[in-house]
Amino acid sequence: MPELPEVETVRRGLAPSMTDAVIVQADVNRPDLRWPFPERMAERLTGARVLQLRRRSKYILADLDSGETLLIHLGMSGRMTVSGDPLGQFAHEHPALIKHDHVVFHMNNGARVTFNDPRRFGAMDLLDTETADTHALLAKIGPEPLGNDFNEAYLSQALSAKNTPIKTALLDQRLVAGLGNIYVCEALFRAGVNPTQKAKDLAPDKAAALVPIIREILLDAIEAGGSSLKDFRQAGGELGYFQHRFRVYGREGEPCVTQDCASAVERIVQSGRSTFFCPTCQS
Ligand code: ZN
Repeated sequence: MPELPEVETVRRGLAPSMTDAVIVQADVNRPDLRWPFPERMAERLTGARVLQLRRRSKYILADLDSGETLLIHLGMSGRMTVSGDPLGQFAHEHPALIKHDHVVFHMNNGARVTFNDPRRFGAMDLLDTETADTHALLAKIGPEPLGNDFNEAYLSQALSAKNTPIKTALLDQRLVAGLGNIYVCEALFRAGVNPTQKAKDLAPDKAAALVPIIREILLDAIEAGGSSLKDFRQAGGELGYFQHRFRVYGREGEPCVTQDCASAVERIVQSGRSTFFCPTCQS
């Protein structure tokens, strides 16, 4: 499931083909994804110029010169592919439509952007640009972890009000935007915080330490995604999914990566999600 770095990588991959380009044709090949597409979506997108492509949490937002903002959510399995990218060294030929290609944007620069989503947990909607940030989907999302509003004072205060385990608290999108299971596990490992510890009992210095650790983990992943973008033209034009080496995530039973630590990574289930941690380093 894409988390913030993957979504940011997709945004960066789409930007050269979509920013300042006009959608000359939009193919909407089914009535819905996770929920119905907005009325006359294809018609409302046709002829619109993309003014900017931005991200809020795990949503990609394309502000259009029509006064509307196209919201895109990748869900569990949504994938975006660019073909005919005129800015690359060479252009991918436009592929034939394949199964689950639900939406296709034809840009006036020759690029074609295809949204493929086998499981259809993804979503697209059209919002008024002026009020987009207060839309029900976006209004209650917490600060961006890479933004200035996410800082030590904010996080200490927010955690002090949480009676849940720290792992669960950090997954709460109202507390901080865009963090998912993978990066929360990795952040708690790097901070040496036990995932079962109650958020409100976290020592102030540990809470403070989490802020730069979370930023660093996300920035590292975005950088890795950037490297994958350089290869994406060779790899078929699909954006956003790339291999990482994680320190604890997905490593149950494997040795802890900390030097001189003899423990193995353990897995527990919290709020229905797997948590990976080192019982020694995170005691
Ligand atoms: Zn360890």
